[in-house]
This record gives sequence, structure tokens and C-alpha cells, in this order.
Amino acid sequence: MKQSITVGEAREIVLGDVHPVGTEKIPIPESLGRVLAETVTSPWDIPPVDNSAMDGFAVRAAELVRASPEHPVSLEVIEELPAGRIAKRSVGEGTAIRIMTGAPIPAGADAVVRMEDSRSEGSLALMQVAVQRGEHVRRAGEDVQRGQTVLETGIMLTPAAIGMLASLGRAFVRVNQQPRVAVLSTGDELVDVDGDRRDGKIIASNTYSLAAQVRECGAIPVVLGIAADTREAVEAGFREAMTCDVILSSGGVSVGDYDFVNDVLRHLGSEMKFWRVSMKPGHPLAFGLLGGKPVFGLPGNPVSCMVSFEQFVRPALLRMMGHRHIFRPVVRARLSRTLRQKPGRTAFLRVIVTRVRDGLAVDTTGNQSSGVLLSMVQANGLLVFPADQAELAQGSWADVQIIDPAFWREWGPFSSMGEVVADRS
Ligand code: AMP
Ligand code: MG
Repeated sequence: MKQSITVGEAREIVLGDVHPVGTEKIPIPESLGRVLAETVTSPWDIPPVDNSAMDGFAVRAAELVRASPEHPVSLEVIEELPAGRIAKRSVGEGTAIRIMTGAPIPAGADAVVRMEDSRSEGSLALMQVAVQRGEHVRRAGEDVQRGQTVLETGIMLTPAAIGMLASLGRAFVRVNQQPRVAVLSTGDELVDVDGDRRDGKIIASNTYSLAAQVRECGAIPVVLGIAADTREAVEAGFREAMTCDVILSSGGVSVGDYDFVNDVLRHLGSEMKFWRVSMKPGHPLAFGLLGGKPVFGLPGNPVSCMVSFEQFVRPALLRMMGHRHIFRPVVRARLSRTLRQKPGRTAFLRVIVTRVRDGLAVDTTGNQSSGVLLSMVQANGLLVFPADQAELAQGSWADVQIIDPAFWREWGPFSSMGEVVADRS
């Protein structure tokens, strides 16, 4: 095993080791945001029969060829047809059926005259316009034809897709299962939000940010709390975590005297694939399989932890849930200032991307220390600073992973700003 691998290598290893968790059938009202695990075809035409697009009169178009406001054609109204009923009579010579929007076109009729293009006179209706055959008629199968594929496997279910499932008579739908993801914090210095912070204790915020990141992916966080820095406590935490589909721990993964994650994972017989990734923040980062389940030993620093999740855990969870697109979109943005680094590791800088006249501009959030969680709060993107470069000059283009979904809402249609590019980190 190599000491330290690149971000790209690490991503490849992780993605090669995760597989969809399985599928389940759920009621459609609960399916919003879930990933479809079947190809849905229509069992019938929609609409099922020819029906009226307007309130008006079902007529035979051939009878109205010369109709005009000055010389209306009078037809005898033989029936009133509300939506949801079938006409008892058919439209013959000199007759019409009053029809409501959505009602099936009666036998004999081939067009609809709008109410406002007619006048009534007792039991007669005076048609003031000529109509083409098929005018104001919605054809059977116009929206969807029987046997047509309407939803592809792997899409995320939207309100429209759920409406479509309903219109196909589907009360249930098969979706990919959501992995249950154990979240374990390790560290003697940690307390929960309501804990006693005297004696240099700090709040285990990673538990909360990680659980929220898991939820944002559409997976289910299982919070296991805080394990003290002893071999026994860390082992007990991992044993409990093994009931889940994926295991995340934070902290204790470096080589300090109190870092037991590596020891415990080895002791539990996990098949470890790497311990370190050449990135900044987030250098120590363990990944392997524990009882066949992906286990990530994430670094303890709050920013390192979240950035590592973004680069490796998120794509893995999305892959496990059957998503087609598992990476954040990457945009190119022009640097507002020159950035420098010591080459060697891929850096992920917390940045703010804004729209300017000729595209996108990007600047850092300020202090890039791996403990400054505020930088993640402020950032809408992670700028990828390639490992082999020492400087990115002001005014040059940089690749930025957009991590804030609100970016797309705030900045509107993307076409006006340039292209989304491939992730090269
Ligand atoms: P470690 O990797 O265990 O040495 O932790 C590195 C740094 O991250 C230390 O300053 C810890 O206090 C901090 N840290 C570790 N775990 C957490 C956590 N769950 N929440 C917030 N900070 C943490
Ligand atoms: Mg620690």
C-alpha cells in the first residue's frame, strides 16, 4: 500500500468499492427526491379517449363549412355532456351535443365549437364559425402513448414525475434504498452541544455537519455520538457502527498517541485501501471495507472533515443510491486575486463565486485554516488548486466545485455564464 495517494486515485478506489444497496417499493407520496429503480412505461394512452379541449358543442365539421356570425348554422342540441360521462346519443345530421372540457367526444362528432363562437336560441344552438375536423379536440394518446417509456431508471423523482406515476395508475414505485450511515465522533476533548465546555472541551460539531451532509445526499444518518480516546471506546463505537451500510468516523485517524482509529480498524479485520490522501485540507483519511461495508476514517478538523466528505463520501453515497450524476458541477471562474501554495497536494480552497459581466469571478473566503468552519459556512464553492502548481494568477481561470445548491437558484440560467466543465481534481 502506498503511503499517500492522489485525490483522483482515492476517488477511483472508493467508487470501485461501493455498490447499490438494493431497491424497495414505496407509496408514491413518499417518493419525492428518491432515485427511480425501474423503467416506467405507460400501460395506457393519456388521455385515454378523444375529448373536448373546450366548453362548447360537439359537432360534425362538415356541416359548418359556411358558418359565420352573419349566417350561423343552427343545430339542435340533443344532449348535455359534463366531464366524466359518456354521451348516450351520437351526433347526427343537424344536431350537436353540448360538451364540457374533458368530456369524451361523442360518436359521430369530429370537432368542437367553442361556447363563445355560438349563440343559443331555445333548444337550438347557432354556430357562428366554421371549424376544422379535430378542432378543440384532445386526441387519445396525445400526451403519452401506451407502451411509451416515460421515466428512466436512475432519475431523481420530482413532483412532475410523481404526478406522472399517478396518472399511470401507479400507487407504488420501486426506488433505490437509502443507505444507513453511521456517524461516529472520536476524541476526549469532545462534548455534545449541551455539554460542559470547561477544561478545554470543544463541541463535536462534526457529528452535526456530517449527519446533515449525509441527509443532504438523501441517505439516512445514524448518529452514534462521541467515543473517548481509548482503544476500547473506539472499538465499541465501530462495532455498533457495523450494523449500518456505511461507516463514518471523524478524528483519531492521524498518528498521534491518542489516534486509535487505524489500530481498531486493523484489529476488527477491516480491509484497508488507503490511509492518506494527498490533499489539503484532509491529509489523513482512511478508507476500507469493514465486514464488506465502506468505512471512512475522516479527519477531525471540521473543514477537513466536511471537504473529505464532499470529495469521497458524497459520490460514494450517491452511487450507492443509484444516481446517474454523482459529482458536484464544476464551473470555471476568473480569480480575483493571485493564489499561491507549496506544490505537492491538491488544495480545496473555500471560495465565493459571484456573477460578473463576462462570466464568473471567484475569491477565497479568507482564512483557509482547516479548523475555520466559518469558511465552509460562507463558501459556495471549493476551488481546486492542482497539486503540481505553485501559483494561480489573478485574472486566470480556476475550476470550482459548486457545493451550494442555492448557487443555481441565485445565479439563474447557466447558459449565459459559460459552460460547466469536467472535474479535474
Ligand atoms: P484529531 O484528528 O482527532 O487529532 O482531531 C483534529 C482536530 O479536530 C482537533 O482539534 C479536534 O478537536 C477537532 N475535532 C475532532 N473531532 C471533532 C468533532 N467531532 N467536531 C469538531 N471538531 C473535532
Ligand atoms: Mg482526536
